[in-house]
Amino acid sequence: MAFVVLASVSCGAGEPVASPATSARADRTPASPTSATDTSTDTSTDTSAPSPTASPSPAEPPAFSAKVTPIARERLGYSWRPGCPVHYRDLRLITMSFWGFDDKPHTGELVVNKAVTDDVVTVFRKLYDWRWPIRQMKLVDVYKGDDYDSIDADNTSAFNCRPATGSSNWSNHAYGKAIDLNPRENPYVTASGSTAHQNAKKYTKRPMKGKGVINPGDKVVKAFAQVGWEWGGYWSGTKDFQHFSKGGG
Ligand SMILES: [Zn+2]
Repeated sequence: MAFVVLASVSCGAGEPVASPATSARADRTPASPTSATDTSTDTSTDTSAPSPTASPSPAEPPAFSAKVTPIARERLGYSWRPGCPVHYRDLRLITMSFWGFDDKPHTGELVVNKAVTDDVVTVFRKLYDWRWPIRQMKLVDVYKGDDYDSIDADNTSAFNCRPATGSSNWSNHAYGKAIDLNPRENPYVTASGSTAHQNAKKYTKRPMKGKGVINPGDKVVKAFAQVGWEWGGYWSGTKDFQHFSKGGG
């Protein structure tokens, strides 16, 4: 049951607004991602108990929740240091639900710039409600700030004070305004078509089907675009299929 709570989350946001569970039709949400805009095409063949007392079925996964808090410097031991373009006090820790590759709900952590927390919560709420799968979501510090290791582990992450790949300029990740989503399924691919990650080699082409794969024009790309985030899969030459950033770059 997809409740539409996203009505421009007020700042500070993320509180798991108790939705007045309007749905009387116990929609089992089979993980099939139907297009975002068309609901109501499939008149469900729901023969299962019409349970008039809409009691919260034990099988029903919890609603999306997100909590936005300041982040202690100790949590960023590898990813932040003096001289980074954003002070750690201007970063926020988002602790929120995501839907796993195991088809179960999980809680992950993402560190982003305080200016974009609403954007991020808005998008990840949609991903969760769509049951769009994410492998895992941990701070890059779990990988000692090593971008390569985090990617190799298919870890979704955001803030990391590092230069852009192949450049001496700061990456948008260093500002907490970029997210890498399912980096194994959505690799960084050079103009010649190669990726640095052995385990991502079968994911270098687009479009392609697959769990957690992002494709041109799909609902994931659109969800980010709606809050002003651009997709690295649209870059010319090099493609960064995992990369979304506020305002591009
Ligand atoms: Zn990135």
